[in-house]
Amino acid sequence: MSAEAAWDALNEALEDETPGCSGLPLFVADSRADEQRAACEVICARCPVFDLCDAYATAAADAGFWAGAERSPKRRKAQAQLSPTTDAGAVIPRQPNNEQE
Ligand code: SF4
Repeated sequence: MSAEAAWDALNEALEDETPGCSGLPLFVADSRADEQRAACEVICARCPVFDLCDAYATAAADAGFWAGAERSPKRRKAQAQLSPTTDAGAVIPRQPNNEQE
């Protein structure tokens, strides 16, 4: 699945579901301590869009905390073209479009 298709699927799900990280700055922080990562893992494990979040993060190779795991920075330029369709959760502030605003 392409990163764009995965992103579209995730955003479609976010129209009906609220991600566990919604409104939690810890998920969009530049770094997390071990205990903070552990707390994020617990939140992600209960998240209704875990699989879609994981699919997007894997396809996009984006940096940050996604679907229960800290991802290394491998951001691709193509992601800058993706745009969120909802502001339901912490997933959204990590998107490249928001970094340009
Ligand atoms: S990072 Fe992904 S799996 Fe974890 S709470 Fe947020 S949307 Fe859900």
